[in-house]
Amino acid sequence: MAQILAVGSVAFDSITNPYGEVSRVVGGAATYFSLAASFFTDVGIVAVVGDDFQESHMRLFDGRRIDLSGLKRVPGETFRWKGEYSADLNSRETIYTHLNVFEDFRPVVPEVYRSSPFVFLGNIHPSLQLEVLDQVKKPRLVAADTMNYWIEGNPKELRQVLKRVDILIINDEEARQLSGESNLVKAARGIKNLGPTIVIIKRGEYGALMAGTDGFFAVPGMPLEKVCDPTGAGDTFAGGFVGYLAGFEKTTDVVLAQAIIAGSAMASFSVEDFGLDRLLRLTQDEIERRFVAFKQLTHFHEL
Ligand code: AMP
Repeated sequence: MAQILAVGSVAFDSITNPYGEVSRVVGGAATYFSLAASFFTDVGIVAVVGDDFQESHMRLFDGRRIDLSGLKRVPGETFRWKGEYSADLNSRETIYTHLNVFEDFRPVVPEVYRSSPFVFLGNIHPSLQLEVLDQVKKPRLVAADTMNYWIEGNPKELRQVLKRVDILIINDEEARQLSGESNLVKAARGIKNLGPTIVIIKRGEYGALMAGTDGFFAVPGMPLEKVCDPTGAGDTFAGGFVGYLAGFEKTTDVVLAQAIIAGSAMASFSVEDFGLDRLLRLTQDEIERRFVAFKQLTHFHEL
């Protein structure tokens, strides 16, 4: 049984930024999420790809703790997304989003995943997120992500999803947009009123902020000499975060704080190369060392 059931896009991405350009590389929210989470636990993906997604593309999941029995391959083209980043990589413009095979996709959660204790609703149409929730049996924890595309396009369905989510993981701009509040503390409170008990706001190179049941916990971004491509950093963060949580019997505040570090560590690797490249050559040993580096970065002695 998968510890985590993850739904989201599996995509072909094209990315342009000041460091270069890649075209039609494998990406997608579910891909980044599951690769990151698989360093910690077993993940099952529910998604769809087209017949242009070949065996060679599938191979990137080989030898990892990722089950693909919920990944459908149907005639047509795989989801496509193109993004272009600003000079400082802090903002990006979506050049296009082609849903393609996701347009008619009806997620069917394989029987073996239905009792997964953790569910991650990755960035995809909120009605697909709802369909997945309708098929699972009392998960211990539901975490979700979304983006401006769905906040603007499908606000009603998104609100229905939020009522059934425990932890929303969202970036700062989207938190402001979703709540209508420019102040992030107020934004987090506004989002909690919509359902989630915990809101995690990703702040790109500046780190992450968790609004929990009992106050805030914040981490900075790891200062990195080489930042190449932020694509997927948010999903990678979520994968590290939920993957880490899955290793514990109880989701205490201490475990949640450690999971934020795990997510931040995974995201800090992801940005070091284009697309999935850095995650694909990442080792367990490197993850442990970066966890320690995070501890050193934020540790200080009281007077
Ligand atoms: P992030 O940089 O964490 O926001 O994630 C970028 C990934 O999300 C890329 O690999 C895209 O393929 C995928 N993506 C972008 N827009 C969407 C969308 N509207 N729905 C689903 N996935 C998307």
